[in-house]
Amino acid sequence: MAEGQIMKALSGFYYVLSEGRVFQCRGRGVFRKQKVTPLVGDRVIFQATSETEGYILEIAERQNELVRPPIANVEQAILVFSAVQPDFSAKLLDRFLVLVESKNITPIIVISKTDLLDGETKETIARYVRDYRCIGYEVIETSAVTKGGLDELAARLRGRVSVVAGQSGVGKSSLLNALRPDLRLKTGDISSHLGRGRHTTRHVELLEVAGGLVADTPGFSALEFDHLTLDELPHYFPEFRVYGADCKFRGCLHVAEPKCAVREAAAAGDIAPYRYDHYLSFISEMKERKPRY
Ligand code: GDP
Ligand code: ZN
Repeated sequence: MAEGQIMKALSGFYYVLSEGRVFQCRGRGVFRKQKVTPLVGDRVIFQATSETEGYILEIAERQNELVRPPIANVEQAILVFSAVQPDFSAKLLDRFLVLVESKNITPIIVISKTDLLDGETKETIARYVRDYRCIGYEVIETSAVTKGGLDELAARLRGRVSVVAGQSGVGKSSLLNALRPDLRLKTGDISSHLGRGRHTTRHVELLEVAGGLVADTPGFSALEFDHLTLDELPHYFPEFRVYGADCKFRGCLHVAEPKCAVREAAAAGDIAPYRYDHYLSFISEMKERKPRY
């Protein structure tokens, strides 16, 4: 018996990576015994029947599970946001941060296309980078053109399972190609989302990049907060925590409650006002969708 991780599922076979080798495996009794269908990303115990084949005996408990793309045990999400072209959107970033954290996945913020920055945009981006680092997020500034920041990104991918997320055109494919040129992911045109177009079916595959595994399909394509409740949202704004303890009401949602320390901190600039605005707008969005709250 050996341990491995499923890299790809295709036509009833699971391709299990174990100590640098890939085994084409059948599921065998695992469906019946555990009543689960193996997912890409699953850690498994399998029996090799030859140098290249085997069958899966057991699936380890999952740390998490994404639906789109269908993948288990994602440890981190590489959130790619271009500095310009398209313009950096802090609101979209905050949306991704909430979604990623609610799935118990570590977000890594990657600012791409930094080679395109000029005097003014450089300052704006530097301010955002400072703000997000100050909150405690890891931020990596990259350029697929100058190769800046790629070593740092590679070090972050090593030994971990990642999904890459971000709008179309921000440079996701270009970054992965820069890290592993033989991937030759299609770049440039709008229809060529990372991975899509190369596959006729919507299957997901883990690729070995910089010593880690990266899903070949962008993560978090659904950007709704459907699975979240209102009282959870403050937890996904980590910088609110320290102030939230001083709110007058326990369970304060930091919206219109009297003596809300979070609102006061935002007014004083101790919390970035744009972060607080985005929080309020997410709360309204959730209230509209869920009138029972
Ligand atoms: P994706 O849709 O997120 O995978 O984005 P792509 O990798 O396809 O890149 C979209 C466009 O941005 C392409 O025309 C790339 O050449 C360009 N691009 C990507 N990364 C960079 C970069 O670091 N600097 C510059 N100047 N352009 C880039
Ligand atoms: Zn409050």
